[in-house]
Amino acid sequence: MLATMKTEIPYDRFAHVPERISGLVDLAYNLWWSWHSSASVLFKLLNRAEWKMSRHNPVRMLLDTPPRFFERAAANPEYLRRYDIIMRRFRQYMEPMTSWFAQHYPGRIPLTIAYFSSEFGLHHSLPFYAGGLGILAGDHVKASSDLGVPTVAVGFMYAEGYLHQHIEGNGWQKNVAEILDRDAAPVLRVLDKNGRHLVVQVPLIEPAIYVAVWKVQVGRVPLYLLDTHIDENLPENRSISHRLYLKELECRLRQEVVLGIGGRKVLQTLGINYSAVHLNEGHSAFAILERLRERLVAGMPPEDALDQVRGTSVFTTHTPVPAAHDVFPEEMMAKYFRGYCPSLNLSWDEFMALGEDPHNPGAGFNMTAFALRMSRFHNGVSQKHSEVAREMWQPLWPDLPLEEIPIDAITNGVHVPSWLNHRIEALFDRYMDSVYPNWREDYDNPAIWEVVDEVTDAELWREHQWLKMKLFARIRERKRLKWSGHREEPANLAAEGLMLDTSALTIGFARRFAEYKRADLIFEDLDRLDRIVNNRWRPVQFIFAGKAHPGDERGKRILQKIYQYSQDPRFGGRIAFVEDYGEQLARYMVHGVDVWMNTPIPLMEASGTSGMKAGMNGVLNLSVLDGWWVEGYNGRNGWGFEGHGGPGNNRADAEILYDLIENEVAPLYYSRTMDDVPHKWVRMMKESIKSIAPQYSSIRMLKDYVTHYYPSVCTYAAGPARQMAGLEEPCAPR
Ligand SMILES: *Cc1c(COP(=O)(O)O)cnc(C)c1O
Repeated sequence: MLATMKTEIPYDRFAHVPERISGLVDLAYNLWWSWHSSASVLFKLLNRAEWKMSRHNPVRMLLDTPPRFFERAAANPEYLRRYDIIMRRFRQYMEPMTSWFAQHYPGRIPLTIAYFSSEFGLHHSLPFYAGGLGILAGDHVKASSDLGVPTVAVGFMYAEGYLHQHIEGNGWQKNVAEILDRDAAPVLRVLDKNGRHLVVQVPLIEPAIYVAVWKVQVGRVPLYLLDTHIDENLPENRSISHRLYLKELECRLRQEVVLGIGGRKVLQTLGINYSAVHLNEGHSAFAILERLRERLVAGMPPEDALDQVRGTSVFTTHTPVPAAHDVFPEEMMAKYFRGYCPSLNLSWDEFMALGEDPHNPGAGFNMTAFALRMSRFHNGVSQKHSEVAREMWQPLWPDLPLEEIPIDAITNGVHVPSWLNHRIEALFDRYMDSVYPNWREDYDNPAIWEVVDEVTDAELWREHQWLKMKLFARIRERKRLKWSGHREEPANLAAEGLMLDTSALTIGFARRFAEYKRADLIFEDLDRLDRIVNNRWRPVQFIFAGKAHPGDERGKRILQKIYQYSQDPRFGGRIAFVEDYGEQLARYMVHGVDVWMNTPIPLMEASGTSGMKAGMNGVLNLSVLDGWWVEGYNGRNGWGFEGHGGPGNNRADAEILYDLIENEVAPLYYSRTMDDVPHKWVRMMKESIKSIAPQYSSIRMLKDYVTHYYPSVCTYAAGPARQMAGLEEPCAPR
């Protein structure tokens, strides 16, 4: 495998790094460092100012750091001691034989899982994501690496992918694209056998589209990124991979053709001839077509080919919002697939029927319906969401009763080492060390987390206070930079959080400004809100953040409305809107607020994951019982309430929320003993950590995927036609 293709770290550009610490270059090109805080310290200690300037991008930092910094580090015994420990841990980690997967599936030839996603949120130095779906994909890949599940990931190299949010004085969102400097980011060119950048043609698509291939190493897992911005392409095709989720439908179709068909072709070119696929949402579902075509070309009988492709495909659907599913009209499909279709042994009508939405037969090619038909294994991302999805897609299985519709529930999880704050982690370390020294490998085991009860209230509270200060300091620093960039009007100093009070109960709300999320719910009754925030004895403050989709005018208007409330002196600087929500700000917020609020219209939130990140750091959830929180809430780890939903019912839901805040949340927070610790509150924080960290971790999620699907997928892969096309026999005893 991968015999002819290489990715080489351009070591010659790092000639100024002394031999003794040259492993820093390898570390910089593997995101493993990003979820091991002790490894990131190595970069920070080397050149603190440049580390900050580079926004924690080790490749840029190593390139821009003058030689004397390296010489100083290489002569410092303390630095070298740390360096040696980290490098040993890194090299041990990269050895796959010790992993969970190797131990639980011994004697099997690992069948690679190709994980396709249109976005990956891994770290802020790699801006290839827009929001929750991308962060989830990034966490999935990190967990695959930690567990040693044989995985390759496929996504896009978005050259102008990341949109920063600038809020103008009137509260209107502006988007500013960040252009990625590929030569100073932790991405590598994949080279062909002549040492040139590998370029692959997307099969059978006219006029031809080509993709160049890049690689990001995520621990043990390679992520291959497709890039259309190359000379080989017609000018109109170069921009296919510029940005996420283009608004124009045909551009989206071309993106999805490239991701699915091109992505599968790239894997084949790389020598990954045999794999199962996991489609993270429908955008990449065309990969299934290419897998089918490969088998037909190799002479496999059509029935067998179809059976094998279905049986080795897992599809995860992520949203119950009908408008969020891509549907492409027939004429548009014809433009790209007329030439492709015959290679599948299908007539045009048979082909279009694969993507027919039974609710709306004439509408075109529905990517979710297609992915459900063409994969044997499918799931929603929480119990509740799967119920909704079963109802939504029941017409695809007209003979089955509702409860037997084969859409399973695998609830999302988040990557604990990435989202648990390192100070909280260090605190647990002190208590866990004697009982479970290996807790970092085993943290989906709830028994381990019982140790949290032994942490003293005062200690946990002190760490939490520290993280709250850190968030407020961060908000002030952003403000300062905005001020010095002359983008600031004095009236907005309050609006963006300069007057936040570290001793006041702080409620955070940060997510995409989609209408169903109802970010503006607490503004239903302004007089009541006024009384709550300005309560003399128990003041409450709110911090909002989040972006509206660039094409979502309604979302932008909701955002503007909230921004304007935050400018209103009536609320005394206790309502803040912090601009440019992304992975980094999310980190500060889920660590540093007291309460995490979520108020979607019920049944609209498939899962939600930010509340998991908050809850495992002891930030208490206050949410509508929807998505993951239906399962996560246990009556002792936060607050949950049934929402009414529907536009006419916002007022009723807001009343419940006000009552909860006034009668339960604030009194509990402000009930202090002489030591100024709210002991009952801290008890709830501990309950939150214990109940959420193990169950809503991405390794629990990934083990669910592997144990539910992997053995069956292997069986299909080893089915009757396995000898065809020189396919190896997967999953068999060695
Ligand atoms: C976790 C996360 C999300 C997802 O949040 P939801 O609760 O699902 O809305 C979105 N954006 C960023 C930056 C995140 O870290």
